[in-house]
Amino acid sequence: MADSRFKSKSYRRVSKRTPKFGSKTVYTRKKHRKVVCAICGKEIHGLKRFLPSDLRKLAKSQKTIARPYGAYICSECLRKLMKEKARSSKYNQ
Ligand SMILES: [Zn+2]
Repeated sequence: MADSRFKSKSYRRVSKRTPKFGSKTVYTRKKHRKVVCAICGKEIHGLKRFLPSDLRKLAKSQKTIARPYGAYICSECLRKLMKEKARSSKYNQ
């Protein structure tokens, strides 16, 4: 019988092969979900999926993308947004 804390779905179940043709269920923590662009919904590249407990140990540069709206808007959408802003700014007219 599994430990009662593993009954919750916050743990991921992985079936592992054991020697002598047996198998057992191993319980591991789920990784953080994929980071998605706020405009188009595509996955943002350059960010790894860590366990929430590991996020504290990492440097800031490993958790975000060093550009305006990094880790929030993908690079394509940001490029479009910047062009729109530049073309509609009052200094151009
Ligand atoms: Zn996008």
